[in-house]
Amino acid sequence: MIEPRIEIASRAGVCYGVERALDMAHEAARNAPTPVRTLGPLIHNPLVVSELSQAGVDMADAVDDIQDGTVIIRAHGVVPAVIDRARAAGINVLDATCPYVKRVHSAAQKLVREGYQLIVVGESGHPEVEGIVGHADGQAHVVSTARDLDSIDLARRVGVVVQTTQTVGTLQDIVSVLVARAEEVRVVNTICSATQERQEAARELAERADVMVVIGGKNSGNTRRLAQICKESCERTYHIEDSSELDEAWFHTSGLIGITAGASTPASHIDKTVHAIEEMLRGSDER
Ligand code: SF4
Repeated sequence: MIEPRIEIASRAGVCYGVERALDMAHEAARNAPTPVRTLGPLIHNPLVVSELSQAGVDMADAVDDIQDGTVIIRAHGVVPAVIDRARAAGINVLDATCPYVKRVHSAAQKLVREGYQLIVVGESGHPEVEGIVGHADGQAHVVSTARDLDSIDLARRVGVVVQTTQTVGTLQDIVSVLVARAEEVRVVNTICSATQERQEAARELAERADVMVVIGGKNSGNTRRLAQICKESCERTYHIEDSSELDEAWFHTSGLIGITAGASTPASHIDKTVHAIEEMLRGSDER
């Protein structure tokens, strides 16, 4: 009889920026002035947030709710005023903004300094986008589709930066309208490939798998998107937050069991899930 096989997508789980932020938080729990708090959830994964809390890292909603100790800035960054306010209040600031997000901040600042009208391609209201606009002193227009440009009085020289999780297709649509309307268009492509790579790897695996397990927070947009992509080619796709949600009945197959995980799922959660599935497969073999 052919044994079922488990395969993990070639790109899955936490990206560089989130892993770095998690490492910084755990390190802060050991060595930084206490109490240690993150500004908002460090990661969209309730299990990780509760693990951090057990390690001594809690969460605050706003700088004004913090009086002492250390505050950790999340990977997608904040407006500079938040960091200034925390420092002025004597709070120790640990800036875990992802270096790729910092790259967007500097590109936005530079374009504004050089006199370009700044367009930020991204989701209005998203904390990362707010941080980018804040670094450009608020002198930016946020657009998520080419149509959003209709209401903007474009200058002669336009500069463009992009929220890291946007797609190349969206950027291309917007730039093609801009080049028709402005005299000079300067584009700094600040898209981070982490999200796209995870989606492509999940799609490739789901096309070959009998069953797909997607691990990550139910409140994590990128994990839900991964589950959606997998479901398109693998009907038996299950989105779990934790290995305790696994059901042995899902794995009655002789084919491939694929595993993927959102950008907010640490490697330890992937390992735990793989281990739990292996135990279930062993259990059904012995019966
Ligand atoms: S998705 Fe990219 S930019 Fe965002 S935190 Fe991860 S590595 Fe950094």
